[in-house]
Amino acid sequence: MIKHHLSDDLLMAYSAGQLPEAFSLVVATHVSLCDECRARLAGFDSIGGAVLEHTESAAMAEGSLEATLRRIGRAPESPAISPPARGRVLPRPVRDYVGGGVDAVKWRNLGGGVRQAILPTSRAASARLLYIPAGAAVPDHGHKGTELTLVLQGAFSDESARFGRGDVEIADESVEHTPVAEPGAACICLAATDAPLKFNALIPRLVQPFFRI
Ligand code: ZN
Ligand code: ZN
Repeated sequence: MIKHHLSDDLLMAYSAGQLPEAFSLVVATHVSLCDECRARLAGFDSIGGAVLEHTESAAMAEGSLEATLRRIGRAPESPAISPPARGRVLPRPVRDYVGGGVDAVKWRNLGGGVRQAILPTSRAASARLLYIPAGAAVPDHGHKGTELTLVLQGAFSDESARFGRGDVEIADESVEHTPVAEPGAACICLAATDAPLKFNALIPRLVQPFFRI
């Protein structure tokens, strides 16, 4: 059912442990809902393993590929991938940050019935849950860098497309849109933004040394 997936850049950077924590959380959460991206991520993990095998042969002898990847490839703060949880609004990676399900979220009102809850991540980028009442518009937000928005409940539409549960919208400075929640259920999204960083430039710079390209 998922139509809007993660980009190769994001999956590669996640595999290399190079994403800010807030973006890692969105990637881990999408992957927990999406078989296709989980398979693509496994592919990038094995490419990364091959690079490590080439450059870290001493370390490789010490343990399994998986252990080495865990030690070198993943930032310690990266949320772990977990098996998909069916029938829950908040997938496991988000539940770990909230400390429970939707009922445990400490919402703050933004006006017009829209609520948000900032999640505790490192400051390189920020992650928040957004609650948009059915039929309401997403409040004004700029795209200084990259914004990832992952739908967890309900759906929203903007000028470009419709996004339902599991879909992720990747917006940058070039995107101007007015997302509106569909009638019916309230729309709950996990959104990450990197306002302090220029994400577009960051990803190639970080991935480049890892893949030796
Ligand atoms: Zn996907
Ligand atoms: Zn946006």
